[in-house]
Amino acid sequence: SAPLLTGDDLRKSFGPTVALSGAGLELSAGEVVAVMGPSGSGKSTLLHCLAGIIRPDGGTVRYDGRDVSAMSDGQRSALRRSEFGFVFQFGQLVHELTCLENVALPLRLGGTKRAEAERQAAQWLDRLEVGDVAGKRPGEISGGQGQRAAVARALVTQPRVVFADEPTGALDSLSGERVMTALVDAVKQTGAAILLVTHEPRVAAYSDREVMIRDGKSRQVESVPAGGA
Ligand code: ADP
Ligand code: ADP
Repeated sequence: SAPLLTGDDLRKSFGPTVALSGAGLELSAGEVVAVMGPSGSGKSTLLHCLAGIIRPDGGTVRYDGRDVSAMSDGQRSALRRSEFGFVFQFGQLVHELTCLENVALPLRLGGTKRAEAERQAAQWLDRLEVGDVAGKRPGEISGGQGQRAAVARALVTQPRVVFADEPTGALDSLSGERVMTALVDAVKQTGAAILLVTHEPRVAAYSDREVMIRDGKSRQVESVPAGGA
């Protein structure tokens, strides 16, 4: 079947800095793809282009048959809200809200009534094994618990693609493994796809397939050694 999300010959510069110089990637439904590469190689820029956060200078992004690169800012923002979920390295939970309120927030913004939004939020916190922190604020929990709550918040709208940019970058390796296991298990249950950006082979080992990016150009990694690096 056709890939769900495709980036082709993507180019993007920031002033004199060339971030992408012909990068491409295909993501199919249910697939976990890791974008690997050294710091500054263009991984985040590729994710931002594929997710419709920034518009590439050249090349095309297609999602589910639609040309994302040709969409207006408003159309891309509507697409992100309805189809995509996001997990970043840190700083994504609202500090004034409890974890339950944080996870319910995307549903509340979409018009779901409070009781129903919080019922679904509680289920996702349970699935991510952080049901016990529902009533706590982000400052009262560990980094790993916060990232699992952030994963719950990314999944509560049942996105078809989850974009995860260094989701374990601020955690020790044990907490990072718990976050990755929870993320991949939860997403696999929903049939969604994950585009994972990481510079850590240990994190990329959770993917089905790896794409290397170097100096703004991507290439498929032919075989992933069993058990990672
Ligand atoms: P990675 O995620 O692999 O670390 P990035 O995609 O963040 O790489 O960055 C690729 C290059 O583009 C780097 O040289 C970075 O400094 C530059 N860059 C990224 N975003 C911006 C921006 N908003 N303004 C200026 N330069 C940027
Ligand atoms: P995780 O592996 O989920 O990151 P940790 O091993 O870091 O969990 O934390 C274990 C427990 O210690 C947590 O259940 C949490 O209650 C508590 N804890 C850790 N860090 C903090 C913190 N910064 N503030 C409050 N409690 C914390």
